[in-house]
Amino acid sequence: MSGIPITLRSCSKTFDDGTVALQPLDLSIAAGETIVLLGPSGCGKTTTLRIVAGLEEPDAGGQVWFDGTDVTPVPIEKRNVGMVFQSYALFPNMTVEGNVEYGLRVRGMPAGERDARVREMLAMMRIEPLARRRIDQLSGGQRQRVALARAIAPRPRVLLLDEPLTALDAKLREDLRVEIDRLLRSLAITTVYVTHDQAEAMALGDRIAVMAHGRIAQIGTPQDIYFAPADAFVADFIGTMNRVRGEVIDGTLRFGAGWLPLADGHAGEDAMFRPEDLKLVDQGSAQFRGRVVSSFFLGDHTRLVIDVGGESMLIARVQQRERLHAGDLVHCAVEPGAVMALRPVAN
Ligand code: ATP
Repeated sequence: MSGIPITLRSCSKTFDDGTVALQPLDLSIAAGETIVLLGPSGCGKTTTLRIVAGLEEPDAGGQVWFDGTDVTPVPIEKRNVGMVFQSYALFPNMTVEGNVEYGLRVRGMPAGERDARVREMLAMMRIEPLARRRIDQLSGGQRQRVALARAIAPRPRVLLLDEPLTALDAKLREDLRVEIDRLLRSLAITTVYVTHDQAEAMALGDRIAVMAHGRIAQIGTPQDIYFAPADAFVADFIGTMNRVRGEVIDGTLRFGAGWLPLADGHAGEDAMFRPEDLKLVDQGSAQFRGRVVSSFFLGDHTRLVIDVGGESMLIARVQQRERLHAGDLVHCAVEPGAVMALRPVAN
């Protein structure tokens, strides 16, 4: 199995009731690449996925290309895509192997070949012992493994996953996320993965398209998006971001509690940095100081909420064994390279 490149050209979508779900959207996905569509509810992720699948037509003028062929008028059953949804859409009364076999039977694959393929898929998803169970006798995580096995059994050219882990509890979600990652790497199939969970997006995406209001706000590798967010919306959506407002004087940002270093050419009076870049230092090397409002020991790190007297509290992610308490005075510093200037949100 190997993937094909996919291109969306100017795909917009306005539904009959006048809802504009997508602004004209261009997206190129490389063969074998995993693209994650990430964004808040209603931003157009599922609509984009359904357009790729052929379940939804783009408005006039929009085009979908698979491997150099315009498939815009081609219905889903002729596009050779595998799909997995949040709700399993499996046949509840059929066995696991019956479900995985179903699509192969519909495609007219001979019985012997079908059996071999079903075995291969059950082994790949590590569910061979469940082969004879009925779907309604399985846990949520097991059902999603069956749904994945069923989706990839016909060796589709494209795999489309819409919030496949959302219905599962946290531990199971993480296990299956690792499993999906392994599967996507070994199949090298072109994949579009929809989620509103940023950890899932960072873990699975070769690139992430962060969507807002029917547009792609930014597309890039997880590192691009995290370390160089295009605007304040993306910065806030991925991880936590501290913001400080002040006055730019001599290349530093002066604010009530002290100052922050700024990169050359930093424009505007807003500076932002990630919680892991706020360091606790001794008084002599401090840029600013504040009072601990709360301290949460989380095992591998401690999350501090620090009041520096500004509009909002700052968050620090620190690793230290000594316990801090509400009311403690802390001295803080941020490396110049970690301080970002961000464009305001365009919309
Ligand atoms: P979620 O995470 O909640 O599934 P999403 O980002 O996938 O959200 P879409 O399902 O693509 O968002 O929906 C985008 C917008 O289009 C929303 O405002 C939604 O209400 C609207 N929409 C989706 N399907 C239809 C439809 N069939 N008719 C009218 N409006 C629709």
